[in-house]
Amino acid sequence: MIEINSSFSTGATTPVAEAVAARLRSAGFAESSIHIAGASPKKQNIVVRYRGTGARKPILLLAHTDVVEARRDDWSMDPFKLNERAGFFYGRGTTDDKAQAALWIANLIRYKQEAFRPDRDIIVALTADEEGGGPYNGVDWLIKNRRDLIEAEFCLNEGGWGEMADGKRLSNDVQVSEKYVINFRLEVRNKGGHSSMPVPDNAIYRLAAALGRVAAFSFPLKTNEITRAYFAEMGKIEKGAIANDLEQVAQGSEDAMRRVAAASPAWNATLRTTCVATQLEGGHAPNALPQLAAATVNCRVLPEDSVEYVRDALKKAIADDQVNLTIPQTLSRGPSSPMRPDVLGAVSKVTDSLWPGVRVVPIMVMGATDGRALRMAGIPTYGVQGVFLDRNDMRMHGRDERLSMQSFYEAQTFLYELVKALAKSPE
Ligand SMILES: [Zn+2]
Repeated sequence: MIEINSSFSTGATTPVAEAVAARLRSAGFAESSIHIAGASPKKQNIVVRYRGTGARKPILLLAHTDVVEARRDDWSMDPFKLNERAGFFYGRGTTDDKAQAALWIANLIRYKQEAFRPDRDIIVALTADEEGGGPYNGVDWLIKNRRDLIEAEFCLNEGGWGEMADGKRLSNDVQVSEKYVINFRLEVRNKGGHSSMPVPDNAIYRLAAALGRVAAFSFPLKTNEITRAYFAEMGKIEKGAIANDLEQVAQGSEDAMRRVAAASPAWNATLRTTCVATQLEGGHAPNALPQLAAATVNCRVLPEDSVEYVRDALKKAIADDQVNLTIPQTLSRGPSSPMRPDVLGAVSKVTDSLWPGVRVVPIMVMGATDGRALRMAGIPTYGVQGVFLDRNDMRMHGRDERLSMQSFYEAQTFLYELVKALAKSPE
């Protein structure tokens, strides 16, 4: 998988799907259980179904086969060769997300060899276009066009991994929720004129003042079911005064929320909707009064905050009706997955058996995965990988992406046991 270039603009996922299909066929999977499908010939997905007794609704195991671009010159080795060095697998996609894709398939083959009979179908879908921004060929395409192939009670996906610091395993994170994105465009228009005769009403000054007010504005700090559970667990993992604050955040203390938000940009982003200016444009000549000044304000919104709420709050903060606020992009707000005790309980049990003392932490992430599309389609999705990454050395999307070989093989055992626990009838 690593050695097939499946990056968004220069590569293709279809050869990955075909290689996986060949592997499954040689392991004895029937042709009727393997589906290669998609909108574009280069960006096909593969879906394979492992039959159970049908007593319960299937579970879906998802991973994406496309990767972020990687240039040979930017890396210290060929990003599309699987290199093994000093206990690490190197290559584009080793962490994001070909490890999980490979593990789902390897485990499915192992279940077959062991004649495992689950009480529900196990569906593995390896999909295109998670990274590329053109979301129509991957999981979205399957949801719209081949929902029958992936219909499931819930889904396991990327998006949650184990956190490690100084070689010590701290937590096994499960992604149950994602923030969503709204890009606002702020625009001020003036009639313009010659810059030798300035007037007080200036589009650039007006926009700059509005952005200053956006910078000074913060959304209120708050928690929800998931972030309360997250902070409660973090309180048990961290040490010292901050540990106490984290536990108090979980209990709703606003003072503690202020201290915790100030301590870390990630915790701040977990505790509130954030908006930040990311792009600017304005003016058309050095010697003309600007007729247009515009900015993009990128908001990362808590699932419980509505678009209207965020827009109204920004409008109120800007307090200038000459600043026109629009939302140029369509956006998709997805619900959180419920904190299912069967799923989280199984994750805890398997985590505890493999890594005693490592805590399972439910997380809401600031980025986006295919989990959002599935949650919107009514399939609750949990990001869980059992792969441990050094939290101070995260290389996904970056140079010399790598995964510890030990972590890879432990994740294989973890996912093998987890799926077995979720697909076996309760005794
Ligand atoms: Zn990914």
